[in-house]
Amino acid sequence: MARYRCVKCAPRPRGFLFESDKPECPRCGAKNELMLTPMTLSGFARITQVQELVDVHLLVEDIAGPIPDGNVRKYVACQKERDELARNKFDQFHASSDPRAVTCRSCMTTPAYEAINKFFLSIDPFYRERTEIDAKVQAGLVLKPKG
Ligand SMILES: [Zn+2]
Ligand SMILES: [Zn+2]
Repeated sequence: MARYRCVKCAPRPRGFLFESDKPECPRCGAKNELMLTPMTLSGFARITQVQELVDVHLLVEDIAGPIPDGNVRKYVACQKERDELARNKFDQFHASSDPRAVTCRSCMTTPAYEAINKFFLSIDPFYRERTEIDAKVQAGLVLKPKG
């Protein structure tokens, strides 16, 4: 199971997010085939309508956390036992202390994320607005105009 975004049936840059075994949009049928769009000086930009996503996890500050970071200790919200971020240079692991950058669904269901995210929603009106628009896009209430 991987996560993808479709930018054919929902507006860029966020698009419509879905989980699937194959890169094919369940809503509009778009696949991750290369598409050429005339938008750069050199001629064409290569983009795909369905793009695979790499998850960003939430880093939580905690004195009992297994990951040292300067003067504080942290843990990854969905993997409390994980004691380092990338295990080797080929390991892709992305994490952030800012919930606005987090995309991991497992992290998003933790009480730590809910508390930190609630705080950011209260101080950042742009984030609040984007979160509301995202919810509408996911529910199919905002569709990209045809053409
Ligand atoms: Zn689609
Ligand atoms: Zn996570």
